[in-house]
Amino acid sequence: MIQIHDKFFKPFLSESEIQQAIKTVADQIAADYKDETPIFVGVLNGSFMFVSDLMKAYQHPCEVSFVRLSSYQGLTSTGIVETLLDVPENIEGRSVIILEDIIDTGRTLQKLVHLFSKTKVKEFKIASLFYKPDVYKGEYAIDYFGLAIPDNFIVGYGLDYKEQGRNLKEVYQLNQKHMINLVL
Ligand code: 5GP
Repeated sequence: MIQIHDKFFKPFLSESEIQQAIKTVADQIAADYKDETPIFVGVLNGSFMFVSDLMKAYQHPCEVSFVRLSSYQGLTSTGIVETLLDVPENIEGRSVIILEDIIDTGRTLQKLVHLFSKTKVKEFKIASLFYKPDVYKGEYAIDYFGLAIPDNFIVGYGLDYKEQGRNLKEVYQLNQKHMINLVL
């Protein structure tokens, strides 16, 4: 059991389970893109470890870049404008594979699909290391995912709890039992 800030987390996925899932994703992408040089675009911050290990598992011609999603108040009907920061300049006409850490409700994915559909890429696909099928509400069929996991908060391997835990090599799951005990 580990503690981050005020919460306790129990071991959930080992380094080797994560690496095996990444290898499976890399092999699936390699099979689909054997005649092309795709551009992998990692969505920061959470995807940095996944991108690094996926690139080591994907030993075929490719390019790699990163974007950040930014929300700011703007003059639209909703008042919120989503933008992509640092969009690679050379994506026009190319096949882009967007790399996400985790897909939960799918709201972030929906924003990414919307923003990338406005670019002049040839096509884009989504690859996420983790995916929570029980909570996913989106319409977009996720192209590649490493592991389907239950609806419980996880940290480690790029994923944070209040900005900590991203550097953990393994993935930990929120210990709900401990929380209930604390409440009682
Ligand atoms: P969605 O928009 O699909 O609901 O959530 C996507 C984002 O929420 C992820 O990129 C991640 O930042 C955060 N998120 C969702 N589930 C978890 C989780 O279990 N643990 C952590 N640390 N972040 C999560």
